[in-house]
Amino acid sequence: MSADTILPSDVKYRRVLLKLSGEALMGDQSYGLDPKIVTRLAAEIKSVHAKGVEIAVVIGGGNIFRGVAGASGGMERATADYMGMLATIINALALQSALERVDVPTRVQSAITMQSVCEPYIRRRAIRHMEKGRVVIFAAGTGNPFFSTDTAAALRASETECMALLKATKVDGVYSADPTRVNDAVRYDRLDYLEVLSRDLKVMDAAAISLARENRIPILVFSIHNPGGFADVVSGRGRYTMISEERVS
Ligand code: UDP
Repeated sequence: MSADTILPSDVKYRRVLLKLSGEALMGDQSYGLDPKIVTRLAAEIKSVHAKGVEIAVVIGGGNIFRGVAGASGGMERATADYMGMLATIINALALQSALERVDVPTRVQSAITMQSVCEPYIRRRAIRHMEKGRVVIFAAGTGNPFFSTDTAAALRASETECMALLKATKVDGVYSADPTRVNDAVRYDRLDYLEVLSRDLKVMDAAAISLARENRIPILVFSIHNPGGFADVVSGRGRYTMISEERVS
């Protein structure tokens, strides 16, 4: 899609980055991937792709392996983190397969080179894929231990000039405390980056928030369990928390 492609009038963002955690692929299972959920997520992505929106996805790996968990079991942290990054490649391939089953052209680019499985991360090439209407899934996080896939999402969104970072979570926005545990947790419609950092709201890690702030990329936090949620957020509808530069009073 070229820059002058006309998008439906309800589309607010021409190019977006969707951050999916590994847990989003797990469904009710305690580990791994639920094919039904992956299929549903692919349908959500397809509905946004069909509007002509350029889509990049950063996928996590927490449903398979987290570096901190490995390190707490005595493993060297960097090694455990590399294992976590490899887990994200598994998830990326599963999502690619589900997207291709519903005829959405998709490329996986990995920050850790694995040439017989997927492309290496090449920024210009990723942008070109999106311009041609391909969904690009970024795997292996930043390629560096001690980082998270949230930071990778902010990094890739900045590098590939996405207009918004859509962070899919289990709930419909950012709350003052975990709403699944705290009854009177307050939900915010809007926040600015500094508030998220200073109040230590658990939405993304500080590195990710700072990077998005520096590059003025709004973060939209929404529920992936809500069918049609991704399309709604791209259209500025539905329930989500917007984290941006503008102050809330
Ligand atoms: N990871 C890493 N560097 C990165 C991204 C991820 O070392 O740039 C590792 C880290 O061990 C992390 C794991 O990969 O625990 C899975 O990623 P993450 O926990 O961010 O996945 P999510 O919570 O989104 O499922």
